[in-house]
Amino acid sequence: MKVKTAKTAGFCFGVKRAVDRVYELIEEGVSPIYTLGPIIHNEEVVSDLEKKGVSVIQEEDIPGIRKGTVVIRSHGVGREVYEKLKAAGLSFVDVTCPFVLKIHRIVERESRAGKQIIIFGDPDHPEVKGICGWCEGSCTVLRSREETENFVPDPDKIPCVVSQTTFNYNKFKELVEILCKKRYDNNVLNIDNILNTICN
Ligand code: SF4
Repeated sequence: MKVKTAKTAGFCFGVKRAVDRVYELIEEGVSPIYTLGPIIHNEEVVSDLEKKGVSVIQEEDIPGIRKGTVVIRSHGVGREVYEKLKAAGLSFVDVTCPFVLKIHRIVERESRAGKQIIIFGDPDHPEVKGICGWCEGSCTVLRSREETENFVPDPDKIPCVVSQTTFNYNKFKELVEILCKKRYDNNVLNIDNILNTICN
């Protein structure tokens, strides 16, 4: 049998940074450690961390935890999760990927400025849920051609478009084209309002 080695393998920068930080916390003797969702989509790593005392929890578990350090993974979380952690008196280590944090800051700022936030991505993906959690008021998540065609922009608001970091670039371009055809008097989508936030 021939075995070919892939040119690249391993974790992306954001996930590697998050996993490394959890191992550092273990070395520092921090205990107990919890991660909000699995730190990586890799069962071997998650199970190794479990053996070392790191438990995976979900957002709804936060109020029941009395002590410990919670790690916010690279996908990031919405503002209300930080509030829940503070209300529970838990310390936390935030390893949200800087590229995701950048999107949080964009949607926070632009939604506060009164713009209509449109996110291209999967509404069930934790990263997208986290991004939605930084929008003042509502936002719209579009993931398909059909959804974008059926979407009716708010005629009174300037739109601001961002994308899930792992969204397909060709799909992004396709959906942008559809959106750009939807023009209103005061609501023209221009290049300044469309931010390609897909990760390299
Ligand atoms: S934004 Fe990019 S580097 Fe960061 S976690 Fe996502 S894929 Fe990885």
